[in-house]
Amino acid sequence: MRRTVYNEDHEAFRETLRAFIEAEVVPVYDEWCAAGQVPREFYGKLAELGLFGIEVPEEYGGAGEESFKYQAVIYEETSRAGVSFGGSGVHVLLCLPYLKAYATEDQKKRWLPDFVNGTTMYAIAMTEPGTGSDLAGMRTTAKLSEDGTHYVLNGAKTFITGGVHADRVIVCARTDAPRPDDRRHGISLLVVDTKAEGYSVGRKLDKLGLKVSDTAELAFTDVKVPVENLLGEENKGFSYLGQNLPQERLGIAVGSYGQAAAAVRFAQQYTQDRTVFGQSVASFQNTKFELAACKAEVDAAEAVCDRAIEALDAGELTPAEAASAKLFCTEVAHRVIDRCLQLHGGYGYMNEYPIARLYADNRVNRIYGGTSEVMKSIIAKSMGL
Ligand SMILES: Cc1cc2nc3c(=O)[nH]c(=O)nc-3n(C[C@H](O)[C@H](O)[C@H](O)COP(=O)(O)OP(=O)(O)OC[C@H]3O[C@@H](n4cnc5c(N)ncnc54)[C@H](O)[C@@H]3O)c2cc1C
Repeated sequence: MRRTVYNEDHEAFRETLRAFIEAEVVPVYDEWCAAGQVPREFYGKLAELGLFGIEVPEEYGGAGEESFKYQAVIYEETSRAGVSFGGSGVHVLLCLPYLKAYATEDQKKRWLPDFVNGTTMYAIAMTEPGTGSDLAGMRTTAKLSEDGTHYVLNGAKTFITGGVHADRVIVCARTDAPRPDDRRHGISLLVVDTKAEGYSVGRKLDKLGLKVSDTAELAFTDVKVPVENLLGEENKGFSYLGQNLPQERLGIAVGSYGQAAAAVRFAQQYTQDRTVFGQSVASFQNTKFELAACKAEVDAAEAVCDRAIEALDAGELTPAEAASAKLFCTEVAHRVIDRCLQLHGGYGYMNEYPIARLYADNRVNRIYGGTSEVMKSIIAKSMGL
């Protein structure tokens, strides 16, 4: 089926990006995986390519694009090549919407130009060792000083993507206790400078996959955060999180669709090249049926993504619809990648084959940005259940 979601400009951007990935990422990707992170200088190259400023208003140095479609192309193309741009996905996909929606004019002037040129990288810290799915249970506190000039931040976060490289982190913290009738009350978003005294980066976590993204533990001990760095209104952070999660979840859905499509491509190529019992693996009926079934699932995921991208651009994508897209596409990718790995036989289990990396990288998509179980809860709630 012909896709109508992208126009000529998006496709030209896709070509440029594909060539960039082939030239700048694929040849060095194994080294990055071994090092456990993308080199910091690479973010400068992404900035030069203009990737950080696409959706930033022109007055702050960006291109002023409103549509999510360029981000979707980035997700599709990195997935297609079986690579990742490390923490930069969080910088743009997760952090930018908060800065655009809730920063004051003064904050935008202070923060966005450096966001665009990549000299300041952002991460977002919601999850804590004691609470992930249940964000209202967070314990990190930010107490306003007596003179009202700053907050004093104390607590710990974990699983923070980009946590090693980040220069500023949007930290979710309690500025007030939860109310008996509203556990979500009292959470605020603070933009914290990672060089501040009392701010420390703990372990860089050793993950099953996504080897090039620096995922870290963070700790805060009496970190002074100027009141000028409060994002939006005090105590309203939970509702801000709710408004931005649909875009994050759609990004994960699109990335999953791209990974599933890549898996089919890798398996099709491999099974045509591999000979067993004197014939190509692709010539077995089982292989054809498996690849055909996978292709049908990928096509369905593509249709879901395309509809959801249009809905997001139109400002109509509901939290339940985003949850539905994430649930469906991540589960499709999980099934498809597993079946395509099986068609590789033992070679599929070897890290030198891209399907192995895809298998490990994809696994987290059913966990982060909200687990599949949490997605089902959101959908069920929207059904009145
Ligand atoms: C690689 C990676 C990168 C990440 N990056 C970030 C980041 O940049 N910033 C950030 O803030 N966080 C990040 N996270 C955290 C991620 O969002 C959480 O891991 C996720 O939300 C799940 O929380 P948890 O790990 O505490 O699991 P838990 O909440 O402890 O869940 C454990 C199990 O219980 C299930 N469960 C929970 N609630 C319910 C329920 N109501 N009904 C049924 N089952 C339920 C879950 O589905 C899961 O199966 C990252 C995680 C990973 C692994």
